Amino acid sequence: NPPKLFSVLGLPVHVMANYPNWLLERVQSGQGAHVVTLNAEMTMQAEQNKPLGEIIRNAELVIPDGAGVVLYLRLLLQQNVQRAPGIELAENLLHSIERSHSQAKVFFYGGAPGVAQKAVDYWQQQAPKLQVVGTNSGYHSPEEEQQLKQTLAQIQPQVILVGLGVPRQEIWIAQNRHLCPQAIWIGVGGSFDIWSG
Ligand code: UDP
Repeated sequence: NPPKLFSVLGLPVHVMANYPNWLLERVQSGQGAHVVTLNAEMTMQAEQNKPLGEIIRNAELVIPDGAGVVLYLRLLLQQNVQRAPGIELAENLLHSIERSHSQAKVFFYGGAPGVAQKAVDYWQQQAPKLQVVGTNSGYHSPEEEQQLKQTLAQIQPQVILVGLGVPRQEIWIAQNRHLCPQAIWIGVGGSFDIWSG
């Protein structure tokens, strides 16, 4: 399962057979990672927004989420790459964690008030042994954000799903990942809306 590294418009894309396995190993070894799910829209944003490009280049795992990115890899680099939708990566990782009995603590951050909690309710049906240790809505005051950071630093979840949309979630992860250096941080866009709906 060695990752292959490609470059798409100056951004890295990592391709491997089994992303959840790789992430699970990172969880178990406490290495942590920032996971970016790359689509064409983001590559265009990164052209304009230099800090966003830098954040993507510093991420430990960038997966080819969008059809455009996959097409680019297939046509220009002649690589038979499969699309890896971000929501499926998150789902596969949560299932792998439950199956591994790793007891990894998971935190859901983002979405309108109540949405992350509803997404957790859905996951308690899907994976009853998964340890979800907390949620936080993505709309809050600066004081509430301070409280959230303290909570994360204290609980040290091993998996932190951040659903604030692009590029807010990538920027937030880059600014705050030092709070839980051993965690896997994944920007999951609107996944909580889908799980809760
Ligand atoms: N969101 C949030 N806080 C904000 C802005 C957006 O929590 O200040 C959430 C919003 O409720 C939604 C998600 O971010 O759940 C964005 O979803 P979208 O599908 O637009 O994300 P994309 O993956 O397309 O960037």
